[in-house]
Amino acid sequence: MGITNTANNSFFESVQRNFDKAAQFTRFDHGILAQIKACNSILRVKFPVKIGESIEVIEAYRVQHSHHKLPCKGGIRFSMEVDQEEVMALAALMTYKCAIVNVPFGGGKGGIKIDSRKYSDFELEKITRRYTSELCKKNFIGPGIDVPAPDYGTGAREMSWIVDTYSSLNPNNIDAQACVTGKPVSQGGVRGRTEATGLGVFFGVREACSFQEDMEKLELTTGIAGKRIIVQGLGNVGYHAAKYFQEAGAKLVGLIEYNGAIYDENGLDVDQVQAHRQATGGILNYPGAINFSDPAEGLEQPCDILIPAALESVIHKDNADRIQAKIIGEAANGPLTSEADVILNNKGILVIPDIYLNAGGVTVSYFEWLKNLSHVRYGRLEKRFEENMYNELIDIIESTTGKRVSDLERKTILRGPDEIDLVHSGLEDTMIGSYREIRDIYKNREGVEDLRTAAFICAIDKIGVAYEELGIFP
Ligand code: GLU
Repeated sequence: MGITNTANNSFFESVQRNFDKAAQFTRFDHGILAQIKACNSILRVKFPVKIGESIEVIEAYRVQHSHHKLPCKGGIRFSMEVDQEEVMALAALMTYKCAIVNVPFGGGKGGIKIDSRKYSDFELEKITRRYTSELCKKNFIGPGIDVPAPDYGTGAREMSWIVDTYSSLNPNNIDAQACVTGKPVSQGGVRGRTEATGLGVFFGVREACSFQEDMEKLELTTGIAGKRIIVQGLGNVGYHAAKYFQEAGAKLVGLIEYNGAIYDENGLDVDQVQAHRQATGGILNYPGAINFSDPAEGLEQPCDILIPAALESVIHKDNADRIQAKIIGEAANGPLTSEADVILNNKGILVIPDIYLNAGGVTVSYFEWLKNLSHVRYGRLEKRFEENMYNELIDIIESTTGKRVSDLERKTILRGPDEIDLVHSGLEDTMIGSYREIRDIYKNREGVEDLRTAAFICAIDKIGVAYEELGIFP
């Protein structure tokens, strides 16, 4: 049982169809559009790894979808669903995602076809390091070439194995740390990367909910407070998104995992559910909540906002009609098939598309990459300077007004920015700015019927111009 991804071939076709639908609203000629759409380079490797007493042949991929800007950028996933079509689709989404949030990278994606639960930590380390050396051999990794990151089934630990393997194979490269992002802070990571995708999802949905005209159409009020939310997938992205929604006053009514779902109209606490999950091995039987042993049923429960935050194609032609949410925020990549997209749009549901909504991860990866290349922590140069400036400003205000600010007020005003403050505010600004760009296209370009098409148009416009200005090698 579980919510399964049934159609990888159609996932890639779905991405291509969405591209074609949007391309008709742009001014680029057929050749430029064909080049934007094409997957430039595909690496498939098979390599042996000693697992226990036997040798296992591992299948893995890295796809560089676009080279219009370098490096290529995108995560590496560990999953049994990995195949060439899936990685191609995901790499293509990365190209469009980066363009939408003005991150100057081409799209890439990697995948290793394994069920990570079946391996020990040491075996996973061997697989990850061997994969990295395969990427090195083929020139598919490097700070200016292709920069992986975490994705489904991977995290900071895997990234630290990658940076260590790459650095030991490239000992003279002073920028070696920039070969991968999503690293632990001690290995050159940036503060705020772990929660970045989930926080970006929150910022994006909050921005969408701030437009009165759009909310009235859905018979909702503006703002996040009081909205009923269901989150599917309690991995890094889903967990952090749920947490930020909860902190903003939303009511988390449903949570869905691969082996079951729970629902409580009075609201769930995500940290307590996590603790229950750790103690019992699953989210089912959480006190006061209704259980669904088939997780797919969890998607169909009443709510205002549904956040699919796991794998692709979980909402398809057979269940789309039963979705009760008024807004779907695509935290995962490709959670809706194109058939589901049509059904949901016809129902008047507002779908906030993946290529915009989950771009918080790659946005903060960009900040991490910049940090690695500049070899300095954000805020290191300006923090004390700003504190001193604010101090002087308060002194001047006090002496001209003859009034004193309290010690607490002084302390609050005086705080110069730390790395985490800068990363979070850079992410917030990006998510707000990009939503407005997409919404503008949606509202103002004749014939555009949904936000996804608007987001693709936004991406194609930027990449098309880049290709035009780049010129094509004769
Ligand atoms: N895997 C994430 C994504 O799909 C992050 C990619 C990155 O940070 O490069 O967007």
